[in-house]
Amino acid sequence: MTRRVAVLGAGIMGSAVAIHLARRGLDVTVLDRESAPMSAASRWNEGKIHLGYIYGADPTLATARHLLPGGLLFADCLRELVGTELHGHVTADDDIYLVHRASVATPDVLGAKFEAISGLIREHPDAGRYLVDLSDARARAIPPDELRAMAGDDIVAGFRVPERSVETRWVADRLTDALAAERGVTVRLGVEVAAVRPVDTPDGAWGVRQGDGTEERFDVVVNALWNGRLPIDVTAGLAPEPPWTHRYRQCVFIRTRSERGLPSALVAVGPFGDVKNYNGRDFYLSWYPVGLLAESGELELEAPAVPTGEAAATFVARVRAALEALLPAVSDVFDDAESVTVHGGHVFARGAGALDDPRSDLHRRDRYGVQRRGSYFTVDTGKYSTAPWLARELAHEIAG
Ligand SMILES: Cc1cc2nc3c(=O)[nH]c(=O)nc-3n(C[C@H](O)[C@H](O)[C@H](O)COP(=O)(O)OP(=O)(O)OC[C@H]3O[C@@H](n4cnc5c(N)ncnc54)[C@H](O)[C@@H]3O)c2cc1C
Repeated sequence: MTRRVAVLGAGIMGSAVAIHLARRGLDVTVLDRESAPMSAASRWNEGKIHLGYIYGADPTLATARHLLPGGLLFADCLRELVGTELHGHVTADDDIYLVHRASVATPDVLGAKFEAISGLIREHPDAGRYLVDLSDARARAIPPDELRAMAGDDIVAGFRVPERSVETRWVADRLTDALAAERGVTVRLGVEVAAVRPVDTPDGAWGVRQGDGTEERFDVVVNALWNGRLPIDVTAGLAPEPPWTHRYRQCVFIRTRSERGLPSALVAVGPFGDVKNYNGRDFYLSWYPVGLLAESGELELEAPAVPTGEAAATFVARVRAALEALLPAVSDVFDDAESVTVHGGHVFARGAGALDDPRSDLHRRDRYGVQRRGSYFTVDTGKYSTAPWLARELAHEIAG
């Protein structure tokens, strides 16, 4: 008999796992509370395909080592899922890392760390398969004159690192189409997942209970609910191990009237914000202290309402002011905006503390992945950038 699988959550993780499992012959049902797949964090983020540079304040190289395999294969894994190349939806140039005066890591420490990470990349067998060929990956310090011309007084150093980002809204639409086209996947939307409990049968099946009280039996369950994951794990008999942090971050997405040459840049680490230029007209802009709307170490964090009207305009003005002080050229993008969207998403991370605290273990991100209880699998996605790769590994484990 064909095994029935419930995939909880239609973000990048749930969608990718579902497609892989259906292609391996399993009967897959995807459940999500939203009215469309890919509506949450996987749509509203900056899409950095991490190589580890941003975690330069991790005193070890553990984060870079953990992020590399999935990041280097992101384009391959995504192509396998959606059947399309990413060309035209990837930032064109190396990322500019701007070191803030109040950074938790000094320019010297970051420079040494960046060099070590570049070495890890060059030695990796998949270095040539990233969004650009990284067989000769290098982080290069930006000369002082060039830095002064581009950045405000609080920026004390800068590096160019060969990292790229993808336009997540474009990817979200492609994955939504791929999910709909996959025979063997049934997508049920507007469904709240309330609990998962073991059903007392010899084959170890699971009952998935919905918000309306109905329960359905599945042979395998994959919990990919991200911000909603932990309460369901508890019902399935998996107690999460503290500490963890839920955060809700809000950002600005701008489409300009004409092409703009603003480079993709970020301010690190501690004071944190960034600008992504995906194709000359579509931009992502964030300033972490303004955009961090809620934070909690509880099992779940409720999403604040998406602002509209004056509240959205005030938010955009605050992000603009903070970024302009550090990267004056961003004004060009705000001034030429054809459309401005304010949206946010959840971030879940093992660890606790604040980004401006050098001792916070949020500076490392090497503790995510899959936990199991029989045929119940719960996935801490960790990063968008590694999700398609991790999904493929998990599907392989489940379907053989
Ligand atoms: C502002 C921001 C910037 C980020 N930048 C990056 C970056 O540059 N690079 C990177 O690698 N990562 C980044 N991330 C992290 C990245 O977005 C996430 O790791 C990734 O999208 C999580 O994917 P997911 O499929 O697990 O979760 P989601 O996409 O959130 O999918 C989970 C789904 O579960 C559904 N759900 C939850 N609870 C329930 C329930 N009880 N019942 C029914 N449905 C439910 C939700 O509706 C949602 O559709 C960023 C995140 C944010 C918010």
